Amino acid sequence: MAIRTHVPGFPRIGAHRELKSALEAHWAGDLDAADLEATAADIRRGRWARQRDAGLGFVTVGDFPLYDHVLDTIALVGAIPPRFGATDANDLGAYFALARGSAASPALEMTKWFDTNYHYLVPEFTAGMTFRISSERLFREVDEARAFGVEPKPVLVGPLTFLYLGKSVAPGFDRLSLLERLLPVYVEVLARLKAQGVEWVQVDEPILALDLAEPWLEAFGLAYRALAQAGVNILLATYFGSVAEHATRLAALPVQGLHLDLARAPEQLDAFLRDWPADRVLSLGVVDGRNIWRADLEKALATLEIAGKQRGDKLWVSASCSLLHVPVDLAGEDKLDPEVRSWLAFAQQKLAEIVTLGRGLAEGADAIAAELDASRAAVRSHGKSDRVANPLVRKRLAAIDAAQYERRSVFAIRHAAQRARLPLPLFPTTTIGSFPQTPEIRAARAKWKRREMKSLAYLEAMRAEIRRAIEIQESLGLDVLVHGEAERNDMVEYFGEQLHGYAFSANGWVQSYGSRCVKPPILWGDIHRPEPMTVEWTAYAQSLTSRPVKAMLTGPITMLQWSFVRTDQPRSQTATQLALAIRDEVRDLEKAGIGLIQIDEPAIREGLPLRAADWSAYLAWAVGAFKLAASGVQDATQIHTHMCYSEFHDILPSIAALDADVITIETSRSRMELLDAFRAFAYPNEIGPGVYDIHSPRIPPTGEILDLLEKACDVVDPRRLWVNPDCGLKTRHWPEVQAALANMVAAAREMRSRY
Ligand code: GLN
Ligand code: ZN
Repeated sequence: MAIRTHVPGFPRIGAHRELKSALEAHWAGDLDAADLEATAADIRRGRWARQRDAGLGFVTVGDFPLYDHVLDTIALVGAIPPRFGATDANDLGAYFALARGSAASPALEMTKWFDTNYHYLVPEFTAGMTFRISSERLFREVDEARAFGVEPKPVLVGPLTFLYLGKSVAPGFDRLSLLERLLPVYVEVLARLKAQGVEWVQVDEPILALDLAEPWLEAFGLAYRALAQAGVNILLATYFGSVAEHATRLAALPVQGLHLDLARAPEQLDAFLRDWPADRVLSLGVVDGRNIWRADLEKALATLEIAGKQRGDKLWVSASCSLLHVPVDLAGEDKLDPEVRSWLAFAQQKLAEIVTLGRGLAEGADAIAAELDASRAAVRSHGKSDRVANPLVRKRLAAIDAAQYERRSVFAIRHAAQRARLPLPLFPTTTIGSFPQTPEIRAARAKWKRREMKSLAYLEAMRAEIRRAIEIQESLGLDVLVHGEAERNDMVEYFGEQLHGYAFSANGWVQSYGSRCVKPPILWGDIHRPEPMTVEWTAYAQSLTSRPVKAMLTGPITMLQWSFVRTDQPRSQTATQLALAIRDEVRDLEKAGIGLIQIDEPAIREGLPLRAADWSAYLAWAVGAFKLAASGVQDATQIHTHMCYSEFHDILPSIAALDADVITIETSRSRMELLDAFRAFAYPNEIGPGVYDIHSPRIPPTGEILDLLEKACDVVDPRRLWVNPDCGLKTRHWPEVQAALANMVAAAREMRSRY
């Protein structure tokens, strides 16, 4: 008996980010469309070769968008908003215009794909919209795979997930009403795939793991009865959570297979062993597609064997979700600590794990004895290594008491102490932390990392940047200064590099959106801060000026959220360890005489679980971790926090519970709408609503900033308002920054004369 193995998707960027380079060269006009397509075809074949050579039963096709897979669906079904003036997405120019904007129209919006750090382009739906196949790419790639000699399993974003993830352009318009128009196009796509000789199509409906309203759930029957007309086998793929509560509903759909994420939700298997018909395929995602640890093959095989007894060759073995969320290949990561490296599996290694499990299931555990031994050894070494569990950290963790989570006094008392220490004007002005990361700064850091620049010279180069930043801020007349974060490559990596328990890959890139990639640090052990991480830079900045300097730290939840984290303990415990390390840094900053400390938590909102029922537990420990980090200081030390992505209306009580003395938030794009929520909730502490959008090079006129501040005064007591941009300025250029901040300071001064 052979067991079918596959992956729901594979990384697209190429082992050395070849797609990124090709895309950027194309956009810069240095690579024409034909050459871009040729490079893309090379990468595509490379991915198929990896899957074929690993021994997978299928290779996945249609999971290689040039920009984004939701955009490819928009192109496939012709859901192109009229403002783009295009109806045919085969033309690359038209395709990229949707993603990046054009003279005719701004780009589609982008947002996070479920609870991952991948961003997709948001489809726009309007009443009366029609659909038709508008891109041949998928069909071409199926032929290409055939020509390459591999068995293709095309993958599509399912019709309901596609509609759900889009937005209704007119308020009140129900985009689900477009389903009946959309389905015939899906049927046509499936029929064409069948005509191309395709046996199985994977149709992704990850929205099944969300809290879905009844009309959406009911629509699954209609949708999949329609798709069944095409006569091709459908593997309905779910991931990112349990769909157990829908087991009977799913069993009633006319689909031939179902994929489950057993990494996130192993407990759901029982429901499907009971309810999923035995004559249909069950694809079990036992290898984690979201994290970089080697699979525990023994455990996975045990799970598969239970299912296999009952299902025989109707059982398929897979990754939990697309491997898009992990780096391509561990090969070449020679600089990683060998022990840490032995615990890891990137996409390439996960392919081998899946195939091994398939073999173990088909031929028995003995057939994979060597692999089982190696996996067991890795799991044991990660679990037992005395580098992972640090007794000092454990002791400290056990000794935390409730008082450490609270400031000494309530806000009103702290507020008075802070005002006495820092005599600030009404509408104090400040920034969010970073100033432009100039090419010179990046070049200096690269040289220093390659050891082509001595540490002392690098230190001096960064100090020169700090001097420049302080001088400019003083001459602009800002009230609370920052050192500018010149020394930081990235707000998580910078701290991770200085903490024990973190490792960094050389090439572990993961796509964030389009050509953008991130390299998440790997948090593998107990977190311990051997020495201060930021104090010298901040104290140096403070030594240059009589104005107060605000220190900048990254909060525990953002550190957690933007790293690959360990799975051998709850996330909450890892967050607590991070919080203790940051707490020490906060106290050291205070000791060094710094009176204001900002702890950035831009990722607190995105860490929310997919199901609302799980929110309160998450928020409780996330808020706790922040407070543990922030609360070790005197009343007169002012704690700031910063959050971008303003959509946290729904968690405002938890934001307030952070009890930061000052919060700075992104509001300018939403024209201060967020503040209404702050008023409705009576947010108690000080607020700095961002008065201009740092994502654009545009210089905000003083009058516009004044309008926003007046609006803010309508909802927040003017004595509690700060004046600042939306976010850090590291992606901007100095001339823009200076002009924009000059207008901002002018607006604050005008406000002082009015209030
Ligand atoms: N302090 C950081 C900066 O200014 C904050 C970045 C962020 O909010 N994402 O760059
Ligand atoms: Zn921000």
